[in-house]
Amino acid sequence: MTTVFNFGAGPAVMPREVLDQAREELVDWRGCGMSVMEMSHRGAEFMDIAARAESGLRELLGIPAQYKLLFLQGGASLQFAMVPINLIGRAGSADYINTGEWSKKAIAEARRFGAVNVAASSEASGFTSIPPRSTWQLNPRAAYVHYTPNETIGGVEFHDVPDVGGVPLVADMSSTILSRPVDVSRFGLIYAGAQKNIGPSGLTVVIIREDLLGHVREGMPVMLDYKLHADHDSMYNTPPTFPIYMAGLVFDWLKRQGGLSVMAQRNARKAALVYRAIDESGGFYRCPVDPAARSWMNVPFLLHDTALDKAFLKASAERGLLQLKGHRSVGGMRASLYNAMPEAGAAALAEFLQDFARTHG
Ligand SMILES: *Cc1c(COP(=O)(O)O)cnc(C)c1O
Repeated sequence: MTTVFNFGAGPAVMPREVLDQAREELVDWRGCGMSVMEMSHRGAEFMDIAARAESGLRELLGIPAQYKLLFLQGGASLQFAMVPINLIGRAGSADYINTGEWSKKAIAEARRFGAVNVAASSEASGFTSIPPRSTWQLNPRAAYVHYTPNETIGGVEFHDVPDVGGVPLVADMSSTILSRPVDVSRFGLIYAGAQKNIGPSGLTVVIIREDLLGHVREGMPVMLDYKLHADHDSMYNTPPTFPIYMAGLVFDWLKRQGGLSVMAQRNARKAALVYRAIDESGGFYRCPVDPAARSWMNVPFLLHDTALDKAFLKASAERGLLQLKGHRSVGGMRASLYNAMPEAGAAALAEFLQDFARTHG
């Protein structure tokens, strides 16, 4: 098998060890004669797999006891609706921080269920920075404050959790969860689609403080009520069993790496390698993002001459550096450096950036 490094933004690279383990267990899970995907979600084997996945994530993130952990479906995109459907009615309005394409989608969906106050936005500057906290026009009576800690498309990341007083903080952590330690007690609700930093697509993780359960808007489908899922331990209906199993293997792998502090150090080193290659290219490459807000997970960059884009993508693919094409809405390139991207991958990319600039400069 050829060695490649997959820089795709999602679905994204998985730890090689996890894939090997899944292959080993694919047809016959630990001698039970069945594949995980053939098991009843209510059988002893799968209940054990789900419980292990839950305890793994709880341990990694240090999730306090008064938070429920839900394994849902529908992606982060369904959470754009479920959050207001369950929470906005408590006050009738919510504050949103607009830092990019994913924030915008969350805002558009929330507007269908209540009043949305965009308390701060970096849209005027092309979403290349984070509006300073001192400029946010927060409503102290808002039901919650929603923000996107890492904008996967723009490559803009908050490196600290903002202080919003006593209002519940809601975060779309799809592309940053597990990349570094985080104090869950600062949040009312955290959600994340699995396919960036957790496992295969099809699973959505929701971490919700218990007092926020039980406020769902009238007349909604029961499946959109967090409390229903919490009351049934995420087994009201058939959960995405195979993605939950894979996520559990990833959590075990993260624990073996040393946990989230170790991942944070590794992720910071990976990002530094790639940003340095961009910044030291003498203008051959350019990253449009404010250095203070540059993402560890998604590095967008442009070539000084877009006529070279095609050649760049061809030459990088020939070196086994895959999926570097930028999001269609911004163009250019994007390198995603999630947990499962080894340091050798970031180093190979940095070296390629230098080589390509030298031969095409
Ligand atoms: C990928 C992504 C989404 C969309 O996730 P789906 O699971 O496809 O709905 C939303 N928000 C962020 C920050 C993302 O990275």
